[in-house]
Amino acid sequence: MQIYSLEQNMKTLKERFERNFTKGKDNECWIWNGPKNAQGYGMIWDKRASHKAHRISYKLYREEIPIGFYVMHICDIPSCVNPFHLFIGTHADNMHDMYVKGRRNHSLCGVKGENHYRAKLTEKEIIEIRTNALTSKEIQRLFNIKQNHVSKIRLGIIWKHTYKPLLNKGGL
Ligand SMILES: [Zn+2]
Repeated sequence: MQIYSLEQNMKTLKERFERNFTKGKDNECWIWNGPKNAQGYGMIWDKRASHKAHRISYKLYREEIPIGFYVMHICDIPSCVNPFHLFIGTHADNMHDMYVKGRRNHSLCGVKGENHYRAKLTEKEIIEIRTNALTSKEIQRLFNIKQNHVSKIRLGIIWKHTYKPLLNKGGL
């Protein structure tokens, strides 16, 4: 029996992972060419299980994903594995994200994404702020908002204020 160290295993995974997409610029989507699931998420096999490729990307190029957290796309492209387009969110963030993207016209509880808590910026602008390569200072000037507001948007902190975290209560 051959025993592989975790490091070797990760290296193998990384090598296999990198065969399935073409690396573009930091602000471009890196589209997964390997297998995809029904929702369009890239899938990769590792340790006898199938994993979502964008989650693996986050682990390989950014950091470990805290237990119970989601890896979300700022670009809205499920097959994108560009680590710069990924951010960590809670279940509540994920639900909010789906709500904003999918049900904007569906007045479920009279709350619409853009009118929800921040009248100044539109959803499109938020995505723009998160994806472009400008510095926070440049963004601040361009959109006429405070710099810490920019950081909060970029780090995905802002959505957390709007929804109560379900994480600890939901037992994910
Ligand atoms: Zn992308």
